[in-house]
Amino acid sequence: MGSSPAFPIFFFVWILELNKRLNNLGKSLGNIIIISAPSGAGKTAICNAVVRSSRNVVYSVSYTTRRPRIDEKNGGEYFFVNRTEFKKMVEEGKFAEWAKVHGNYYGTSKVFLDKMLKMEKNILMDIDVQGGISIKKQYPGACMIFIMPPDLKTLKERLVSRNKDHKEIIKMRLGNAVEEVKSVQKYEYLVINEKLDKAVVAVKIIIKSLKYKIQKNKKYFNDFFDRG
Ligand code: 5GP
Repeated sequence: MGSSPAFPIFFFVWILELNKRLNNLGKSLGNIIIISAPSGAGKTAICNAVVRSSRNVVYSVSYTTRRPRIDEKNGGEYFFVNRTEFKKMVEEGKFAEWAKVHGNYYGTSKVFLDKMLKMEKNILMDIDVQGGISIKKQYPGACMIFIMPPDLKTLKERLVSRNKDHKEIIKMRLGNAVEEVKSVQKYEYLVINEKLDKAVVAVKIIIKSLKYKIQKNKKYFNDFFDRG
């Protein structure tokens, strides 16, 4: 007289279901991670390193009317378009946000963003403060990280030594940096980029922590009491 044959099947199905629920615990529906910083704070290097060394992090490649720098390739750092093309994209509603930054236009692809969110990816965006605030309004769950250099002297040195822009552009970017730094209060996290590897670890820890947000675990709570 053992238990009915249905019992092992029921037990097996229950284990499968439990396993599924445990996997769902902490599973995110995708996150937007906004990274902003004054030019020369090192955010591009940080973003590259984070994307390279993480499994589920993708980089949102923006569109810009800025000329490519010597080492930049279309579709790599940016999609480079002219002002007419950019204007057309704005009119067609292709951007989740766009802004004029340091005299050029930059925009975030809406299609890419929504597709990656559906695919439950962590989307890393290197965008300016105007863009960051606009994205946060549309996607309130977006995580906002501000990167700062250890001090102003280092910022100046980095901007000059990376030798990527003309002198006048460096001067303008330094001037804009002061304004950008004033916006730090609108952000949620601050990472000081004194050493690249440490800053990368800090950003990765912030990204990892997002899956433990209560809002990300609604599924778990929805039927918590029904599950018994
Ligand atoms: P850079 O010309 O040095 O690559 O970037 C200049 C600034 O434009 C940086 O602050 C960068 O974060 C910002 N930026 C890049 N892509 C976008 C974008 O799609 N939207 C906005 N609002 N800013 C962007």
